[in-house]
Amino acid sequence: MRIFDPHIHMTSRTTDDYTRMAAAGVLAVVEPAFWLGQPRTGPGSFTDYFDSLLGWEPYRAAQFGVVHHATVALNPKEAGDPRCRPVLDLLPRYLDKDRVVAVGEIGYDSMTPDEDDAFERQLALAIEHELPALVHTPHRDKAAGTRRSLEVVAASGLAPERVTIDHLNEVTVGPVKDSGCWTGFSIYPETKMSPPRMVEILRRYGLERVLVNSAADWGVSDPLLTLATAEAMLAAGFTADDVDRVFWRNPVEFYAQSGRLDLTAVAGAAEPTFAGSSIRRGGS
Ligand SMILES: [Zn+2]
Repeated sequence: MRIFDPHIHMTSRTTDDYTRMAAAGVLAVVEPAFWLGQPRTGPGSFTDYFDSLLGWEPYRAAQFGVVHHATVALNPKEAGDPRCRPVLDLLPRYLDKDRVVAVGEIGYDSMTPDEDDAFERQLALAIEHELPALVHTPHRDKAAGTRRSLEVVAASGLAPERVTIDHLNEVTVGPVKDSGCWTGFSIYPETKMSPPRMVEILRRYGLERVLVNSAADWGVSDPLLTLATAEAMLAAGFTADDVDRVFWRNPVEFYAQSGRLDLTAVAGAAEPTFAGSSIRRGGS
């Protein structure tokens, strides 16, 4: 089984996780830029983080045979902080980099006017840089937050097939399906979706434009819940091809829209070197 985790924060994880993931067949990941828990106090903290997502982390992942790409954005949680907002002006230079396969995570946390502004500006950047967008939905008032996210995406002019609305559940999946956007689901040990609930949603809504991720980060989370969900699919009667579609071909299809997804190292090609000239570069 080959697994592509389309949303995982490896910066927060240990090498044990990489070892377990590679052994489980997790051969590719996308790491969205997000909130670090500790509030940032200036744009320099973002740019160091972005550099790490595009330099150090793919190198670290490669040591374990995992191919790593990233998405870059001002996350919703810090979109209202005047100390952080200047990073919006620095994003264009990062959105041009090879390993950046989407703008994200963007969207709402508390649905404030500042968040509206950052969300709209970053959707415009996605259009300008010809990148897909990864949209986080809020944990509180998720139904209203999802509805409003869909309105903002529709108004932006970014094509729905280039947008994933993430962290969905049984309540919010329907409207996102209807919109033509991709549906993203995060499988967590305690909250949000569980493998059996995910299997039910796949049964009911089908396998098209679905991304299933672990969203593992510094909180209670588990990078192997993608595997657990794949196994739950098989136990429920889905075929190995169905599993491959959800856990490999779908994320490849979504992020390939960036023109930068480079999976040539998946089969275990030569070791890249970090901070040297031989680090593997993306496709375009
Ligand atoms: Zn996340």
